This record gives sequence, structure tokens and C-alpha cells, in this order.
Amino acid sequence: MGRVAVKIGANTFQYFTRNPRGGSVKELNVADIENFMAFRKEHNLAMPLAHAPYTLNPCAAKPDVRRFAVETMKDDLGRLEYLPGSCYNFHPGSHVGQGAEEGIRKIAEVLNEVIRPEQKTTVLLETMAGKGSEVGRTFEELRSILDQVDPELAGHIGICMDTCHVWDSGYDIAGDLDGVLKKFDRTVGLERLKAIHLNDSKNPLGAHKDRHEKLGKGCIGLPALLRVVSHPDLKDLPFYLETPNELNGYEKEISLLRRAYENPACSADTVIPEGTGENPSRAEMEQLSERAVSDPADQ
Ligand SMILES: [Zn+2]
Repeated sequence: MGRVAVKIGANTFQYFTRNPRGGSVKELNVADIENFMAFRKEHNLAMPLAHAPYTLNPCAAKPDVRRFAVETMKDDLGRLEYLPGSCYNFHPGSHVGQGAEEGIRKIAEVLNEVIRPEQKTTVLLETMAGKGSEVGRTFEELRSILDQVDPELAGHIGICMDTCHVWDSGYDIAGDLDGVLKKFDRTVGLERLKAIHLNDSKNPLGAHKDRHEKLGKGCIGLPALLRVVSHPDLKDLPFYLETPNELNGYEKEISLLRRAYENPACSADTVIPEGTGENPSRAEMEQLSERAVSDPADQ
């Protein structure tokens, strides 16, 4: 994936640690990791973001479902020690009728079990859209999870903010980005924010749906998303695209973001050209991404 990222102008990427809808995993290949680290250095790629499979539900009522989440996360975190300084993003889960409070308690319990004080990976809770009974739909819920984690381990936890999800959960990042970030800072703390999933949304503010859209084609809109990328509190973070695109679509979004980032004054007038569909679809490229800052040395 590193090669594809470089080819389309990205300077980092996000990847699934294993089958995103199953859980099966490849054998750990240390030589492969070493090759990647050399490639990464040569091409100045920022550390890629690991994403846990969607099938995990750390706050499920059934103990065997929670056990699967614990075992998977432990195994992933063990592997990530070979890529020191990684972030590992996961969806906090759905409480399915148990109530958010019980969901939060169970998620914190899982974190207390899987995080080790000496690990070199930061585990990221993703902000959720609030679809169904998802936990993590408000900054307060994320705060409550953090509050229930052992203080010795809490330093290994950060937040990944998904622009589509926070919009869908009712935070108006298009109309009042400053206000939303102030609220995040007061509730969770901006120092916890480690990554941004940069997506437009197919649905209006507060819809609780979670349907990602291409940048500028959805309800958040391009000017607002470009303000996210250039905001002083966010501009040094890594940004990952999860837009419904093929490779050439990602390539165009990345080049647009880069131009806007380098010249914020004229960014809002820029339009993304329609994709031409020249490139073949690549399932594993579902999650290509870009880090807005081109110099990874400042990480
Ligand atoms: Zn996301």
C-alpha cells in the first residue's frame, strides 16, 4: 500500500490490521515490515494508521463477542509493537439496548485489559455518528470512557475525529468549527486528538446515519472541509480519506487538499473535477489517505 500511496501523491495511509468484516489475519512477516520501514524513510511517509476490523464490539452484552474483541485487539497491539509509534483506531462499539452508560463501562474494561503500560502504540477511539446504539456519539461519552481507564494506561489513548461522523452526530463543523473544537477541547482535550478521518457526509447535520461522501459532494461541503484541513488546531494532524472513491478519485482529492493547504486564501473556490474512472477499483485501497503536512519530520 505504501507504493500506491506514493503513486497517488499521499504521504501516509490507513490500513486494516486484518479482514475488516471478518477478523482473519496474515502471518506476521518481519522482513515485510523492515522493507516497509525502509520504503517509508526513503519516501518520507508518515506512520500509517492501523484500523481494527469493523466486526469488533467491545461493549457487546455477550461475553464471547467481547472476548473476541479483546483477543483481536491484544493480537493487533502485539503486532504493532513492530511498528513503534503507531496509532490503532477502533470503533467503540454498540451497546444494543444495554444503555450508553453500561456500554461505556464495558469499553473501558476492554481498554484496561488490552493496553499495556509499556506499549509504543496509541489506541484511538473514533468519534461515532450515533447510528443505532453506537457509543462515542458525543464528546462527553468519549470523556466518560477515558475517565474509567486506569490512569497508568490512559496516556496510551487518543481520539480520531471523523468529520462525517461528528457532523452526523450533530456537531456543526460547517457552521461553527471553532465552537465544535472548543467544546472538544473543554470536554476531551485537543491534546488527545491524533488523527482526522476526512469525509463529506451524504446526510444533513445530526442525521445519525454514517454515510460517507466524496469531498465537496455532500452536506458538509468543500469550503468547510478545507477549513478543517487548514485550521490552526488541526493542520499538523494526519488526515485520512475514507471517501467512496477509486484511486484516481483519491488522487484528485489529495491534490486539491494539498493546493488548499498550501494556499488557504483561494481554497474555497476550487472545484474537484469529476472522476474519469480510468483506474481499476482496488478493494484494499478502500482506505487511502493523505496527511496534509508534507514533512513527516515534524510529527
Ligand atoms: Zn472513520
